[in-house]
Amino acid sequence: MQPHDGMFIDGGWRPAVGTDVIDVRNPATEQVIGAVPAGTAEDVDAAVQAARAALPGWAATAPGERAARIAALRDALAARQEEIAETVTAELGSPIGFSRKVHAGVPVAVAGSYAGIAAEFPFEERVGNSRVFQEPVGVVGAITPWNYPLHQIVAKAAPALAAGCTLVLKPAEDTPLVAQLFAEAVQQAGVPAGVFNLVTGRGTVAGAALAGHPDLDLISFTGSTAVGRRIGAAAGGAVKRVALELGGKSANVILPTADLARAVRTGVANVMGNSGQTCSAWTRMLVHTDQYDEAVERAAAAVATYVPGDPRQDTTRLGPLVNAAQRDRVNGYIVRGTEEGATVVAGGPGAPDGPSTGYYVRPTVFAEVGPDMTIAQEEIFGPVLSLLRYQDTEDALRIANGTVYGLAGAVWAGSEEEAVAFARRMETGQVDINGGRFNPLAPFGGYKQSGVGRELGSHGLAEFLQTKSLQL
Ligand code: NAD
Repeated sequence: MQPHDGMFIDGGWRPAVGTDVIDVRNPATEQVIGAVPAGTAEDVDAAVQAARAALPGWAATAPGERAARIAALRDALAARQEEIAETVTAELGSPIGFSRKVHAGVPVAVAGSYAGIAAEFPFEERVGNSRVFQEPVGVVGAITPWNYPLHQIVAKAAPALAAGCTLVLKPAEDTPLVAQLFAEAVQQAGVPAGVFNLVTGRGTVAGAALAGHPDLDLISFTGSTAVGRRIGAAAGGAVKRVALELGGKSANVILPTADLARAVRTGVANVMGNSGQTCSAWTRMLVHTDQYDEAVERAAAAVATYVPGDPRQDTTRLGPLVNAAQRDRVNGYIVRGTEEGATVVAGGPGAPDGPSTGYYVRPTVFAEVGPDMTIAQEEIFGPVLSLLRYQDTEDALRIANGTVYGLAGAVWAGSEEEAVAFARRMETGQVDINGGRFNPLAPFGGYKQSGVGRELGSHGLAEFLQTKSLQL
């Protein structure tokens, strides 16, 4: 698609107030592939006003009609899946096969799920002598990151629309093109003017203006814990609702009774996918001391199949990181891991052999990682896996729960009951049991500093609703 040089506000593309632009760079070629306007506080204000004006009409629209618009949005996204995949590969650098399956495929599934939920959700219930209504929370400010750029937009926009809310989206600087494509799909779906508005721009300008706007009812933010903490504090001061989806340092716990080969292979794939730029990635693999050496060997062999390459090729499994700063940050963690005494069993600092341009790092596996090392505590957001040794089940649980985060995780065991019993003791929002598949209807969100609130399914819808009771 051709980038738009304006903002999508009140149902159409209108010129930005300022002249500043954000260049969009392909992280594999390092070439600029387009530019979008860098919004200002005035653009944000115009978008919030449009959303406010559209709220009464959309909130009063029957849920069945809202469901029909969301179904049309799903169809518009489904019809453009190849274009979505190519756009995300161009601006994020993820391999085209992964872009097709995940970056383009999952948003269609999530939009479809909300078409169903909007049609069937009980927006009214009877409690004794009361009628209890689930009403839209109002005007929503949505701020999203670049790592799953369309999924994170749809995970906010679809439930907001289903609830009867109107919204203003500020997408990440690195991936604004797929956000513009989403706005086109909203328009194609016949969603009324002003219900969805898009302001591209920098976090510190447009993002900060949106997060601090007095006429919003809810801020829904996905991004780093550092920014989320500030947004949460400001929302608290303004007594405004806030939903935060933040970072993670998830544990992949392989119990002694598990199928070790499958658990290690799946665990490596989980961390290498999207070049490790996944908030829920299982970046800490916990293995019993008796099986530890075998697991290290298997992990090193598995990671060797992730060869950095051109993300446009069907056969490529590992692309670059999103930008030069992210590459340097990840490389810094790899250096830090070696300095703190962890053993590099694959990869290591520096650029990989092969690609002559692009923000690549070497897919890296660390062994002999202590639970208190920086690489075991902080989110790296790159293709870097740490293997930690545990002595017994209680030790494994202590290590698994021993970070400030609690977003996701995995447990592998000989029986489902054994794995579930362990998972129930983990301080984390989602756990995949013996390789359980992604479920777009399951609530997703964090314990501890991984966030506040839940996305996806009916739990995700609840974030955008407030209740009113009428006593009869
Ligand atoms: P980031 O926090 O820097 O940026 C996220 C968004 O916030 C961007 O749109 C950015 O422009 C905006 N922003 C930045 N500063 C802002 C400010 N002061 N006020 C308002 N908005 C501001 O995060 P990132 O580096 O782009 O994304 C990576 C992080 O996101 C990782 O920590 C990752 O774990 C997290 N993440 C979490 C989830 C989840 O669901 N829990 C999903 C994806 C990513």
